[in-house]
Amino acid sequence: MPTIAENLTLVHRQIASAARDAGRKADDIRLLAVSKGQPAEKLRIAYEAGQRDFGENYLQEAMDKIATLSRLDDIQWHFIGPLQSNKTKPVASHFHWVHSIDRLKVARRLSEQRPAALPALNLCIQVNIDNETSKAGVAPKDVLPLALDMAELHNVRLRGLMAIPDPSPDTERPSPFTRLARLLESLRRADPRLAGLDTLSMGMSADLAEAVREGATIVRVGTAIFGKRT
Ligand SMILES: *Cc1c(COP(=O)(O)O)cnc(C)c1O
Repeated sequence: MPTIAENLTLVHRQIASAARDAGRKADDIRLLAVSKGQPAEKLRIAYEAGQRDFGENYLQEAMDKIATLSRLDDIQWHFIGPLQSNKTKPVASHFHWVHSIDRLKVARRLSEQRPAALPALNLCIQVNIDNETSKAGVAPKDVLPLALDMAELHNVRLRGLMAIPDPSPDTERPSPFTRLARLLESLRRADPRLAGLDTLSMGMSADLAEAVREGATIVRVGTAIFGKRT
């Protein structure tokens, strides 16, 4: 079985190779290690191999690991799961990023609850890029008004868009990664307050190379680093 350090090296190589294909710099792509379902000890091993960004989906599980690993104080914690508006307070005080914003109410509460001593919390809007009723995220047509409302909040900073595309490709249309990249570009042009958006959080273990070729700036990778979740 390959070790976590070996897996990280492999994933970095995949990112570098896909970046090269697209004429991009590998340094412009951040690897987010998705550690849901993994014990704190495995995160520590990844940390010792140089990994600093960790993504968690479930609040209680995340809070336990953040407490266990509190001495590793340069970890950047990313919340990537569904977030209810009555659970925002611990996220506002312990995380650096939230990728799964799907309504203004949650963003507003995070802004209100962000401790004054901390820098602005980085946010991404989760987009339902395949427009499926069953899936989480904001419909593409509703993203611009939400982004404009979020731009008015003081203690959070809208950084860009996130999506979890349907794995079965619809060959009639450009890929979901291409469509998400175009949507980000359209936001940047729509209003000066959105001109600085710089983040496309897309690509997981199975499709990270394609996501990087299409412009991902953060890839969220679990299984390819930690192995199967238990
Ligand atoms: C679990 C998860 C991932 C990682 O998926 P892998 O296939 O294990 O790489 C990425 N993003 C989100 C939102 C997830 O929930």
